[in-house]
Amino acid sequence: MTPTLPADHRELISDLSGIVCDYPSTDPESTLAVLADDAAHALGRDATSEGRRERAGYTILLHATCWYVSARVFSKSLFASYVQVLDGIRVQLDRSNCTCPVDSHPSQLDSEYQVEAGVSMLTEAGRAAFAEDYDLDEAEVAVFDCEGFLADLADEAAGQLREASQELFGTVDVSHLDAQFVGDDGRLDLVAMQDAIRRTWENNTGPVALWSARRWLAGQVRDEERIGLFLCLWMGIAQTYEGLPPSFARDLATALATIDLDVSCDHPQHPWSTADSTVQSRYLAVVHLYAPEDHPDTPVPAELSARELWECPVQYAQLARKALQDLEGWRTMRGGDDEDWEN
Ligand SMILES: [Zn+2]
Ligand SMILES: [Zn+2]
Repeated sequence: MTPTLPADHRELISDLSGIVCDYPSTDPESTLAVLADDAAHALGRDATSEGRRERAGYTILLHATCWYVSARVFSKSLFASYVQVLDGIRVQLDRSNCTCPVDSHPSQLDSEYQVEAGVSMLTEAGRAAFAEDYDLDEAEVAVFDCEGFLADLADEAAGQLREASQELFGTVDVSHLDAQFVGDDGRLDLVAMQDAIRRTWENNTGPVALWSARRWLAGQVRDEERIGLFLCLWMGIAQTYEGLPPSFARDLATALATIDLDVSCDHPQHPWSTADSTVQSRYLAVVHLYAPEDHPDTPVPAELSARELWECPVQYAQLARKALQDLEGWRTMRGGDDEDWEN
């Protein structure tokens, strides 16, 4: 009889494969939290052969999914669960128990294969089915239980998570941008800031937005530079479609909170509404405002280019509302806990 996986394990393979291929069909944050939780429970059964089978399976699964936790889910508690269970697994593993021939540990396994291997290793039936599907002999299956192999996976996953955790939740230093954006006379070089945002391939939007937010919050901005600085902050948010992590979003939200949303005016239209929602159109609008001789083209018509219209509190409020929506969208998209996102 052909061995088969239990139905819930076939479903687990399908859910986790969707996640590691970056096309999740379930909510990744809760699916991965359940995985880490199940792995933690299995740790307590390490004295049994069932527990050791599960330890191998879960170590492979945590390793396979850790890139997604590092890059796609901005949740401190999920990070903590992963690191805790990986550390717990690591304590149980002794590399000196490895008796494999040199270089015989599987390496560079693709994530989908790891998902299938990991889920299969959890049960005897799964192992038999996996061995048959991939035509593996006993030794080739046994290597998945090797403590040296599993220790390597656990160390690699925990290391990657610790590094990513600092980037996602720690304090990001953008002070090197002072030299690029502040002139000797203390003026902001808004054209240089716009040029940086326009170089999308350099992933500048997040750092420029964060730098702008901190400058704004420190009040290090001349009156005539305020709208330009605010628009650099705004564009950094509006043009980061994949979302920025809490290490960026916290200061962005604090800067936006300084804008009064309860304002009104009699203007039928404000200048920013005439710029297309493209990087180029927005770029032209801002650089024209600060260097009209060098940049004569702008989408903003002359009748809407009065400084008073640019500085209207209602336009600031409209911009802030849109940016706050974007930040909320990142939280919905990326998950995580409320306190991770707040200063
Ligand atoms: Zn080994
Ligand atoms: Zn107005």
